Amino acid sequence: MDRAEILRWLREEDEKRLGHLWQLADETRARYVGHAVYLRGLIEFSNYCARLCHYCGIRADHRDIHRYRMTADEVVASAREAADLGYGTVVLQSGEDFGITREWMRDLIRRIKNEVGVAITLSLGERSTEDLKTWRQAGADRYLLRFETSNHELYNRIHPPITGGKSERFGILENLRTLGYEVGSGILIGIPGQSYDDLTRDIEKLVELDLDMIGCGPFIAHPDTPLGKDQKRWRLPDGVQVPNTEIMTYKVVALARLVRPNANIPSTTALATLNKTNGRELGLMRGANILMPNVTPDQYRVCYEIYPSKACLRDSRAPGANTIRSRLDAIGRTIGTGRGDSINYATRAGAPARQSR
Ligand code: SAH
Repeated sequence: MDRAEILRWLREEDEKRLGHLWQLADETRARYVGHAVYLRGLIEFSNYCARLCHYCGIRADHRDIHRYRMTADEVVASAREAADLGYGTVVLQSGEDFGITREWMRDLIRRIKNEVGVAITLSLGERSTEDLKTWRQAGADRYLLRFETSNHELYNRIHPPITGGKSERFGILENLRTLGYEVGSGILIGIPGQSYDDLTRDIEKLVELDLDMIGCGPFIAHPDTPLGKDQKRWRLPDGVQVPNTEIMTYKVVALARLVRPNANIPSTTALATLNKTNGRELGLMRGANILMPNVTPDQYRVCYEIYPSKACLRDSRAPGANTIRSRLDAIGRTIGTGRGDSINYATRAGAPARQSR
């Protein structure tokens, strides 16, 4: 798909033609990754953060939230709960918390591998190559780090570097690949200041990075952040600015599937937040093949407010495989068993062989 075609789809508004895009994405998903939907138990294990991302509610200078870091025992218990619910993977996500040391994380990864035995995806932001290497050796399988936008100027504005350092997410993504991780990245859709041309290049970037996992969700304004407070100031003129809408999210999910047919693509919580009734299902019907139910203990989950009214806050407990199964049944899908590794990872050059999907 060339740039002009991507841009045409992003700007398409005719429902009938969009129906064609959804169908193409759904057929491609079925042909390449099948009908199974893999479940990842999301554990938001710390909301301490050293950064000042203009979009994010757990940014360092947001003083109004209670900061927490789960103990290793608590994280292992949540991982066990996820495994008991039938999930084959846990995603350990946090703010950029340097109170999480290399060694503490290494020991935690080992414990989860030994005591629970699920696949582990990490999402701790920008960490040193040494950290990433140690954690990979300890048994971590995958890493998620969205590039958010490929427009450097916009990225640097909304993601200020920590004093003295610079933020080079593309370099880290390259490191992750070299270290043998399954690599995930993606786009924040509708950031104030993001143009249609930017988003078109973002989608081309998904191809260039040969991603194994692609997570794309809509920007949701958080009132206590610079972008949430002053959206109008940063928004581009109508027709240039990418809208942070449900429909735009489906377009990006569908295009991601078409350009990276073998990737694992989640239907995200941010999308479900825009349409709490059936956003998750529609994402799955328009290209996605992964769900990430939240298994963070309730008392912590409410404090991990990267944006307001997260859909998962409604579920006081994580839905078990049975509840999810009936919703998936209704759309002709099944629950994946086992780890659900990315087919893209399994087939790309240089990746170590892995058994069992
Ligand atoms: N600190 C880690 C992981 C936590 S944030 C990191 O930065 O990678 C995980 C993702 O949440 C981010 O990549 C971003 O795309 C998304 N996010 C943050 N704030 C958001 C908001 N206001 N609306 C929608 N998504 C948001």
